[in-house]
Amino acid sequence: MSNSRKKIALVTGASGQDGAYLCEFLLKKKYKVIAADRRSARNTNWRFQFLNIEKNIIKEEIDLSDLGSIVKLCKEYKFDEVYNLAAQSFVKSSFTSPMSTSDINSMGVLRLLETIRYFSKKTKFYQASTSEMFGNINKKLQDETTLFYPRSPYAVSKIFAHHMVKNYRDSYGLFACCGILFNHESPLRGEEFVTRKIIKQATEVSLGLRKNILLGNIYSKRDWGFAKDYVEAMWLMLQQKKPDDYVIATEKNTSIKEFVNKVFKLLNLDIVWKGKGVNEIAVLKKNKQTVVKIDKKFFRPAEVEFLKGSYKKAKKKLGWSPKTSLDEMIKIMLKAELNNYNFNNK
Ligand code: NDP
Ligand code: GDP
Repeated sequence: MSNSRKKIALVTGASGQDGAYLCEFLLKKKYKVIAADRRSARNTNWRFQFLNIEKNIIKEEIDLSDLGSIVKLCKEYKFDEVYNLAAQSFVKSSFTSPMSTSDINSMGVLRLLETIRYFSKKTKFYQASTSEMFGNINKKLQDETTLFYPRSPYAVSKIFAHHMVKNYRDSYGLFACCGILFNHESPLRGEEFVTRKIIKQATEVSLGLRKNILLGNIYSKRDWGFAKDYVEAMWLMLQQKKPDDYVIATEKNTSIKEFVNKVFKLLNLDIVWKGKGVNEIAVLKKNKQTVVKIDKKFFRPAEVEFLKGSYKKAKKKLGWSPKTSLDEMIKIMLKAELNNYNFNNK
């Protein structure tokens, strides 16, 4: 690419988990990467620092609630590719804040699509759709043809965006794709999500820094992949001849309880489960210390019990398949967590 102009990509929600990995991926592909986020009072750079890419990206401000900020950036840069990862992405918070969730996750996407339609029609567009849209399905494997039965304001808001993207593709010929991604995790996952919460707090238990972990429904099952593998699929979708939608998953799923078992085992702590329902606990075999308790506070008004996705289409058309197993991913996450405490995971 040295003689040709660098492709310019916009990543919204760049300071989130996927945003940081996607910026890293696009930099390796020699893109000029515009990493955009809304203003925040918190430190939003820690993921860029973790990946050591802070100096190589161009940071800009964008707020999906604010049409002007979107139009300004799109007119200024004339992006080749826009990856829309910005969202209120935490299902539980969508029950507390359904309106702002919808404004960002639904209307925010429409604001982007309208901007591209009027000012930048050649820009290719990626939308972060989600397996949560499937919700209450009882199909063994969910794919691109599975009907949606949303169970949260988050899922409803993402379905609006999903259909709007398809509609703009059909109506105005935009090159717009939706990646229906199943849960994906990493050391860069937010601490409120269950995998990172368990990894972080179990590490603290193992170091004697905490007594126990409080969890909600430990019987739901998720199809967990590794975020670094998944961002490649986003890019691949925009490199195809025709725009389309794809499920990205691992075709395996695991309950929260099994995930807890795996994490404690890797920390060399034997646990046993006792009791039922909200009284269920996990105790350490060696000294009977209670290390997991159930707390109603972490239950949701409606739950998605079972998710498992088929990546058959992605494999056939994109040549994509997951590279990292759940066990490998847990080891990567544990190692990073222990490093946070300056311990070596040997
Ligand atoms: P994160 O929550 O880590 O990142 C989301 C980012 O969006 C944050 O940087 C957040 O900033 C930003 N954001 C929120 N509101 C706005 C706004 N109004 N304007 C601009 N930026 C905003 O999510 P992930 O990286 O895990 O996920 C990326 C995308 O993929 C999301 O759309 C998510 O819904 C979707 N998805 C994720 C899955 C997963 O398992 N990770 C599965 C399927 C889909 P701030 O910190 O200020 O809130
Ligand atoms: P989600 O699939 O996008 O909602 O991702 P989460 O990681 O937030 O939740 C995955 C599953 O873990 C859901 O079924 C939750 O109900 C369940 N879960 C059980 N306990 C907890 C908890 O303490 N925190 C979170 N975030 N989820 C929990």
